[in-house]
Amino acid sequence: LRKAAANPEELARKIKEGDRVALSRGITLIESRNNEHREKARLIIEKCIGAATGTVRIGITGVPGVGKSTFIESLGKHLTEQGHRVAVLAVDPTSGVSGGSILGDKTRMQQLVLESNAFIRPSPAGDSLGGVARKTREAIILCEAAGFDVIIIETVGVGQSETAVHSMVDFFLLLKLAGAGDELQGIKRGIMEMADGVVINKADGDNLKRAQKARVEFKRALHLFPPKDNGWTPEVLTTSALKHEGITEVWDLIRKYVEENQKSGWLQSKRAGQNRQWVLQTIDEQLKLRFYQDPAVKAALEEQLRLVETHQTSPITAAHILLDLSR
Ligand code: GDP
Repeated sequence: LRKAAANPEELARKIKEGDRVALSRGITLIESRNNEHREKARLIIEKCIGAATGTVRIGITGVPGVGKSTFIESLGKHLTEQGHRVAVLAVDPTSGVSGGSILGDKTRMQQLVLESNAFIRPSPAGDSLGGVARKTREAIILCEAAGFDVIIIETVGVGQSETAVHSMVDFFLLLKLAGAGDELQGIKRGIMEMADGVVINKADGDNLKRAQKARVEFKRALHLFPPKDNGWTPEVLTTSALKHEGITEVWDLIRKYVEENQKSGWLQSKRAGQNRQWVLQTIDEQLKLRFYQDPAVKAALEEQLRLVETHQTSPITAAHILLDLSR
């Protein structure tokens, strides 16, 4: 990372010129656990924030195997062919935990990786979901400053990762399969409510009829949800990501959504609200980090936990002793 430690001003300038190497370095600084790197990253973000306008941030979720990476590759290629510049980021709190990762291994999206107008970054190694989410939000800013106008954030139905991604995108898309039950697909009601669009993927071959039927059923089911506060009714579409079918329609839908909600001013206020959340989440995360990194806490933590385990101290007392130790 020595080179990445170049002067933040220079790195920010290069990022804004669209230098991909500088962009990667900037994101590496964001992901670093080193406090000095983090401070540099903050300076870079400060220079990059607000540099880009008219970007579209899309969140995509769905269970493993639904076809997310195939879909993103297909959509990404469709967009780059139209002259868009596409960045794909991932939120996968499982990455780095016991060496496993549901998303983010580098063999995915092999064609899109080769596009000069695409930038793909795997999920930062997971500590907490809060940490991964913070890093991803910051990476969005750098990608936009580097001229990427469509940002796709991929996530998987693990824990609260959808909620985190929903809180950083303009349009939230749920990928589903026809036929598999909702429990099997890990679809919680909350996710359905968050979706601005639903796509039934793998609508091809023997599966085509079932997918079309599922589309009708889904549309009906979505009408039972209370209307969204922007008045938008989520659309249900079918795609074959493998055969690149239905992808244009998905992009048309996203564009329609963005146009309508920009005109009404709703999208602008949605992003403003997300910025509020960003502040609060950053504080949450930093308070925790500071607490656990405090030398006094580090020195006493294990001992207090042991005292609780051996019933010599109550959990509440131990927690307060530790909290009082940190400054
Ligand atoms: P992810 O885990 O959600 O990222 O899913 P992948 O994109 O890795 O796809 C899982 C499997 O489904 C792969 O074998 C893909 O080739 C296949 N697949 C993805 N999209 C489609 C599709 O539209 N039709 C068919 N028949 N297979 C697909």
